[in-house]
Amino acid sequence: MKGSRRVRAIRVAGRAAGRDYQGRSWVYFLLSAQTRGLSLGVNLSPSGACDYRCCYCDIPKVSALHRAPVDVQGLALELGAALDFVASGQVVHEPSYSRFPKEWLSLRQVMLSGEGEPTLCPNFVEVMETLVHARALGRYPFFKLVLETNGSGLQRPEVQQALELFTAQDEVWMKLDAGTDSQFHGMSGVDTPFREVLARILELGRRRPIVIQSLFASVDGSPPARGEIQNYVRCLGLLQEQGAVIQRVHIQSVMNWVESSRCTHLPLAILSEIACQVRRELGVEVEVF
Ligand code: SF4
Repeated sequence: MKGSRRVRAIRVAGRAAGRDYQGRSWVYFLLSAQTRGLSLGVNLSPSGACDYRCCYCDIPKVSALHRAPVDVQGLALELGAALDFVASGQVVHEPSYSRFPKEWLSLRQVMLSGEGEPTLCPNFVEVMETLVHARALGRYPFFKLVLETNGSGLQRPEVQQALELFTAQDEVWMKLDAGTDSQFHGMSGVDTPFREVLARILELGRRRPIVIQSLFASVDGSPPARGEIQNYVRCLGLLQEQGAVIQRVHIQSVMNWVESSRCTHLPLAILSEIACQVRRELGVEVEVF
């Protein structure tokens, strides 16, 4: 059971600590460079259900057919307790967090994420309603909601319905690790046509601003070729031209503790070069982790 792990190893770059469930099943603490502080994560994929097989993902995956619902009553209890804990300031006395600056330990956001793809969660609407309700109670300082997704379940009517509950301050972070079919298939491990991935990003990006999350790695010993990066930047430019509003781009790599025989970390100099190219050609805010 996920909740039995005290600290879950993380799968992407930029996170200063692991997922800290502290005995809970659905809600974990996460210190993240991407959010410059403490987040609460909600695990919408307890079974690890995901329809991608990213070459850098360290979480054992099961088929998307094995998706399981979230116990929303349990989630509400865990979320309330975790929010109370953060609001009380006790988190600064936790041994695993005491070495971090105090300003990192106030709550930045609540993330819909987890061990697999959150938009595949069968009761996504109920989860979202639970989070929005906790925020509407007004017992805690305002926190934004962030959905971290590969986009594959975004077309589901219940996900579309749930996203109507997002305010302008909330964010959707969408995965885009490639600029061509072959690069996408190599990174994601699936044969979904790349144009479908871009269409999903475009569709949402026309409705609300999105944050693009891109992970680049050295795969089988080779860093991404210059042409691949150019194609990736060109895709972002086309999305913009066609009406997607890109609020920010996150550029990151595999961290060394989740490196595999296939995927290893890219040096900061290469990540910074990619970030500069995106900034120059798109004129959007880019952060490197
Ligand atoms: S989409 Fe996310 S959870 Fe799914 S395989 Fe890729 S990194 Fe892992």
